[in-house]
Amino acid sequence: MRIVFLGAPGSGKGTQSQRLVERHGIPQVSTGDLLRAHVRDGTELGRRAKSVMDAGQLVDDATILGMVRERLAAPDAARGFILDGFPRTVPQAEGLEQMLAAIGQPLDAAVLFDVDSELLVKRISGRRTCQDCGRVFNVHTAPPPSPPPCGGQCETPRLVQRPDDKEETVARRLEVYEEQTRPLVGFYEQRGLLRSIDAEGDLPTVTARLEAALAPRG
Ligand code: AMP
Repeated sequence: MRIVFLGAPGSGKGTQSQRLVERHGIPQVSTGDLLRAHVRDGTELGRRAKSVMDAGQLVDDATILGMVRERLAAPDAARGFILDGFPRTVPQAEGLEQMLAAIGQPLDAAVLFDVDSELLVKRISGRRTCQDCGRVFNVHTAPPPSPPPCGGQCETPRLVQRPDDKEETVARRLEVYEEQTRPLVGFYEQRGLLRSIDAEGDLPTVTARLEAALAPRG
């Protein structure tokens, strides 16, 4: 299964990816997570990307496409993958299409996570990440078990807020989504790959809608 998750920041793509990874045994490829790893490791790419990310803007297409090409070449992506937060621009979508056509493994679907914009702001402002294992929780909608999170794998619950989840940056990220990423809805619709789901509601309900959207069509 090769799928793209499309949707505004806070629409639940990352959370649902984590659930699908567990159920289907294919990796989640999140360009946001890959970039944050570069920032954390202090690489050249990470140093360049940090200020762009903190401002809520998009990292340039060439950098993103290079990073994705490298990640999809890893053995665990051979059976499929969930692309979370990529592509985010039409040139990225075109680059991905060419990359997958070259290896004869086209996408199966692009799922659009549909969420009301007021709810997005609430979800993003409540989002917290466990510094130890990277799992994402939400103080409003998916609070971490107490104590500790991650079923006890982490010794201490160290939950942090991403710098770009602060309220002042969130509005900018939502604008960037509308301007640069929303056009991908038409891009994938034209190719017959688009599946839209109502992404409001509790986690299992959205997961069920997602599974239904991805079920083979007969
Ligand atoms: P995310 O975790 O997907 O919300 O991404 C966090 C930030 O990383 C975004 O606001 C962008 O600055 C950057 N980023 C992640 N994915 C991409 C992408 N596909 N294209 C450009 N920038 C990206």
